[in-house]
Order: sequence, then C-alpha cells, then structure tokens
Amino acid sequence: MTARPISTGDQAASCYFRTTVDHPYRKALIQVCEPCNETCKHCFVSATKRGAYMPLDAVRGRLIPQLAAARVNRGTLTGGEPFMHADLIRITEAFRAAGMGVGVCTNATMVTAEQVARLAELGVHMNVSLDGFSPESHGVFRGRPEGFQETVDTVRAFGEAGILQGLLCTPNNLAQDEEYGQLCTFAKEQGARYVLMNPLGPMGRGASRGSQRLRRPDDHMRHIRDLALPFADDDLDLTLIRFPNDSKPLAGCEAGTIIYVFTDGAWRSAPTWFSPRGRG
Ligand code: SF4
Repeated sequence: MTARPISTGDQAASCYFRTTVDHPYRKALIQVCEPCNETCKHCFVSATKRGAYMPLDAVRGRLIPQLAAARVNRGTLTGGEPFMHADLIRITEAFRAAGMGVGVCTNATMVTAEQVARLAELGVHMNVSLDGFSPESHGVFRGRPEGFQETVDTVRAFGEAGILQGLLCTPNNLAQDEEYGQLCTFAKEQGARYVLMNPLGPMGRGASRGSQRLRRPDDHMRHIRDLALPFADDDLDLTLIRFPNDSKPLAGCEAGTIIYVFTDGAWRSAPTWFSPRGRG
C-alpha cells in the first residue's frame, strides 16, 4: 500500500497530487461532504455551511464495495471540511476495515482530542491546509483569522499523535516571504513528511477575479521557491505544484489511477474533475 511519487526532482509537477499508487491499484479522493466552516478565497468547491453529506450507510454498503472492485487501495477523504461530517470517524473505520489506507485533508479547525486519539489508533494520515504562518495571512485568506491558532494547535496534536503526513500551502500575497520558512520549520518540528505548495493559477484553481488579486506574479513565485527549497531534505519532501517552470519536462499524467467521488456518489477520473471543481 505504499504511495508512489507522481513527479521526480527532474520533472515539473503538473498534477495536483503528490503521490498515487502502483498498478494495478488506484487511489480515490472522496468528497464526504460539501459544507465547510471556512470561506477560503481560493475554494473552487465554493463551499459554504450548506450542502450534502455522504450517508454512512451508502459509504459502507455501496461506495467501499465499488471502490474495492475498482482496485482502490488508498482513499483520501475531503470536503468541504471532512470534520463537518458527524460520521467521519465511522467512515474512516469502514475504510480501514476494508483494508484501505486512509488520509484526510482538513483545515484542522474543528478536530477534538478524542478524534485525534481514534485516528491514531486507526493509522489514518492527516494532511492540513496552512497558507501562511500568521492570523493575518492564513486566517484572513480563509475568512477566519482565529482559525490560524486552531490549525496550529491541531497540527501539533497530529504531530504528537504521529499521524501528521503533510501541510498543503496555497501561496498568496497576504503572506510575508519569511512565513514560508516558518511554515517549513513548523512542518519539520511536527514530523510532517511533506510540504506541498500549489499557487493560485490563472485558470482552474483560484481563477476567480477575487482570487487573482491575491496571486503572486511568477517572479515572486520563483523567489518563494528559492526560499523554501533549502528546507527540503531526507525528512521533508517539498512538492511544488504548477510553479513557473523554465526548463523541466512535465511529469506524466495519472488519468485512470486517481478517481474522484463526489458527495452525491458521482465518479470522475482526475483530469475531468480537477479543472472545474475540487477541494482547495
Ligand atoms: S478551500 Fe477547503 S477549507 Fe477552504 S472553504 Fe473550501 S473546502 Fe473549506
């Protein structure tokens, strides 16, 4: 059930994802709910507090058997904010009982100590969004300045429990340059295996007019890359998605190995869903 990197150091990462799985297996991203407690500037799910939740019975009775039949052996639970789902822990238990690896992508603002302990027992890996290292950057970008401290505290709890996998960062012009080093240092201190940076883009993710005002120009993105690269080492993988690329060939496409499942149960393979919709 080991993950396979999608791009190497000699390639430019174009896919939104850092890893997938080896043939004949597949990986699935499952939008367990649409609602979210944050209002991120770049959210291209356009999440609000309203929306649908994937029923636990449907997960157990239909989704997991269908994914198993499609040779899915890893699932990443997304939203909206997955912890808005009252049955999130039961959903992770069902995936683990089916023998699948599970990760959760979360804004880490509404996770209880009991949930952290249970996720650690289940061997679930946590991926947390952190877009800067201050309430004025991360918090404002996500519409809740108080959310920064909540996220930092929860990342520490994940780190102490040994379940922190990585930090997901959307660089934007609210963050000061020194915050990227602070963020990478924090990731290392908490035992994260990776920091993934994926900037706002002129199309797809972050393409709305409001988001574009927060986008750093390409020259500044190169500067951020140079600030972050020294933190990459054997313990911390730095994955730069869709940064300005001057020379490297693009990594291959993972169409067919990554499946996205919407809250209503519809399936898409990665290239057809990530442009118009998807989780930030
Ligand atoms: S990007 Fe994620 S955390 Fe932010 S509003 Fe959208 S679903 Fe919520």
